[in-house]
Amino acid sequence: MVKFINTSELIERYQRGERNFQSTLIEAKNLDKINLTGADLSRSKFYGCVIRQANLSGVNLTDAYIHRCKFNGTNLSGANLSDTSLHKVNLSDTTCIGSIFKRSHLVDSNLQNANFTAADFSDANFASLKLNGVNFTRCNLSIVYVINTELNEAILTDAIVCIRKGYRNSYRVCVKCGGDAYHSGTTFTSGAFGSGNTEADVYFSCYDCGHHWCEYK
Ligand SMILES: [Zn+2]
Repeated sequence: MVKFINTSELIERYQRGERNFQSTLIEAKNLDKINLTGADLSRSKFYGCVIRQANLSGVNLTDAYIHRCKFNGTNLSGANLSDTSLHKVNLSDTTCIGSIFKRSHLVDSNLQNANFTAADFSDANFASLKLNGVNFTRCNLSIVYVINTELNEAILTDAIVCIRKGYRNSYRVCVKCGGDAYHSGTTFTSGAFGSGNTEADVYFSCYDCGHHWCEYK
């Protein structure tokens, strides 16, 4: 059962020391610069909210549904977004150091220039994301699939990168037959799985003739 809450009630209860806001419905609210550090908003639903330059560090957003919200410049460090669905969400310029996005679904969202240092995206799904300038230093990117997403501009220093299903927009023209080749997997150079210098090699395979090759990432 999701309970509706208005902005002033949320702020008032938080300032009184309450932290338990599980299963809350927060709709079309301007929460710019709000401080909800350590609040439990698990299983909550956010629709059309503007929560820019806010402090959401350590917030529990497990199993939340976040739709058409703007978090530009917000601090989500240490926040738990496991099993969370983010759809049409703007996370650009956010700070998400050590945040947890296990099994999360990130769809049609803007993550540009966000700092995800040491964040955990294990078993997450990426679809149609803008990732230019994202900092994934020491991130766990053992993700399930990536589609319509370019990781080219991202910082991946010491990240664990393991994409189980390829990003389908990364087509190439096969040099052997001119057919469509596709991204068929990502592996690592030396020091794989967390021991440093994890740089991904990206493999492509041709649909038509089976020719395959590696492009160093
Ligand atoms: Zn071919």
